[in-house]
Amino acid sequence: MIKASLRSHLTLWFAGLSLLILLSVGFYVGHIATEQMKQASGNTLLSTARSTAALLAVQLRERQLEVSLLSKAPLFRRGDLDAPDILALMELRTQSRAEYAWMGVVDAEGRVRQAVNGLLVNQSVQQRPWFQAGLRGEYTGDPHEAVLLAKLLPGAANGEPLRFIDFAAPIRNASGETIGVLGAHAHWRWVTQIVASAVTQKDALPDIEALIVDFDGKVLYPEALAGEQMPKDKLVTPTGWFTDNGYVTASVAVPSPSNARVSWYIMVRQPLDVALQPARSLLYKLMVLGLLAAIIFIVAAYYLASSLSRPIERLAKSAKQVQDHQPGAVFPQEHPVLEIAQLGQSLTGMTHSLLAKERELQETNASLEATVAQRTADLTQANADLLKLATHDALTGVFNRRRFDEKLAENSLLFQRTGRTFALLLIDADYFKRVNDTYGHAVGDDVLCQLAALIENTTRATDFVARYGGEEFAVLLPEVEEPDSPDVVAEKIRAAVAAAKFPTVSQVTVSIGVGVAEPSDRDSLALLKRADMRLYEAKGAGRNRVA
Ligand code: GH3
Ligand code: MG
Ligand code: MG
Repeated sequence: MIKASLRSHLTLWFAGLSLLILLSVGFYVGHIATEQMKQASGNTLLSTARSTAALLAVQLRERQLEVSLLSKAPLFRRGDLDAPDILALMELRTQSRAEYAWMGVVDAEGRVRQAVNGLLVNQSVQQRPWFQAGLRGEYTGDPHEAVLLAKLLPGAANGEPLRFIDFAAPIRNASGETIGVLGAHAHWRWVTQIVASAVTQKDALPDIEALIVDFDGKVLYPEALAGEQMPKDKLVTPTGWFTDNGYVTASVAVPSPSNARVSWYIMVRQPLDVALQPARSLLYKLMVLGLLAAIIFIVAAYYLASSLSRPIERLAKSAKQVQDHQPGAVFPQEHPVLEIAQLGQSLTGMTHSLLAKERELQETNASLEATVAQRTADLTQANADLLKLATHDALTGVFNRRRFDEKLAENSLLFQRTGRTFALLLIDADYFKRVNDTYGHAVGDDVLCQLAALIENTTRATDFVARYGGEEFAVLLPEVEEPDSPDVVAEKIRAAVAAAKFPTVSQVTVSIGVGVAEPSDRDSLALLKRADMRLYEAKGAGRNRVA
């Protein structure tokens, strides 16, 4: 997943959304404008087509009326179709109105009796639709190519086929009998000029053209399009106009004069491109405006996003600092956005309580470590005490009986292996029972302590002093240089004790038995026995002496 900053996210979203909205609004407005322009163009074209059709209808009706009125003139009612006055009347008509190409009277058998300029006289028009219809009543006919007149009329040379509109009316005599038909051919040009003039008006839409289409949708005018087929189903539409083939086209049926068989359509059309030009230029303007607005939106979005994201970036940075145990993490507390301010405050609170917890933990750790160290020291001390207790006498502090036994065994072994002589002194306080009895057990203990100290002070550091039991002490002398030296040491001890001043008891004496290891000794017990015997001797000899 690509990670981008909040700022980029917000900017992209803002910009994207605003662009989307602007574009959709632009296209929607453009669409509406296009539809409206189409409609406006269609409606205008329709009204042009209507007025053109109405104008044409009026003109056609007038010509029809003219021919009808003429056919009812008293001259015709007399029944003489060859009367020269008839020709004069027709000539007068055609001269005053340029649209008539031909006018003539035909008898009931379809033979032309008289005609302006003598055209077609004596020819039969019996097969012509206008003649047949004219026998029955007033008639205005479709435009058609001149079948008979083509060769006779000027204008046939310029390539344009000659087309005419036929008008006809029956000629009746005084007794109401139909004796012939008055027919007239109007130039097609006359019709097209009426139509053309309608679309060349000053206030007409630009680039419009008018078409005349027959009831089958075939184009009759303009000549350039003649014969082309217009969509037949679009000739009559509910709106009166349609878009097709790149044009907006309005279509109106020419109102037919009564009993006439004319069914033409006037179509007025304008190229879609031209009709939609205003909408298109509006769309371009909208697009340019939209683009400008989008740029402004993007810039605004960037600044808005920045102002929103800056404090969050700071929060993130500070949180990272806290995580990395870096100092100086500050969370902004004030921000117009409520949640950001709350986040800042919460993070500050959280950091404080976290730091406090951490400090507390550190302190607990330190005190635990101190406790452990203290316990370890206590344990070491206890071990040392235990060790001392195991080897030393609790009252006097000199070695105890257990340690003495070990030491004696060691010395015996050493003596047996190396032959190095050692000696043993057994020291016993004299009449100690009396001390206890007289001064109490506590004073007795003090005396025992003092005795131990005296013995230790009198012997060498290499000598081994131990409490052998009760008020008895033993001293091992590891090196015996001369045969009598143990006696010297014993005597020194005895004299020191005898000379010593004891606080309550004043004087205490000891008797000492001396034994020296001998090669014949089987074990240490022999030496012990010997020393004990000497002690017994010393006691027996009166005490306070060395034996
Ligand atoms: P002697 O050796 O001279 O024959 O006479 P004595 O009074 O010393 O005789 P004995 O050895 O029978 O008596 C030893 C006395 O020492 C008995 C006991 O009350 C005393 N004694 C033994 N151990 C202790 C001790 O730890 N503290 C005290 N206060 N007295 C002790
Ligand atoms: Mg004793
Ligand atoms: Mg004693």
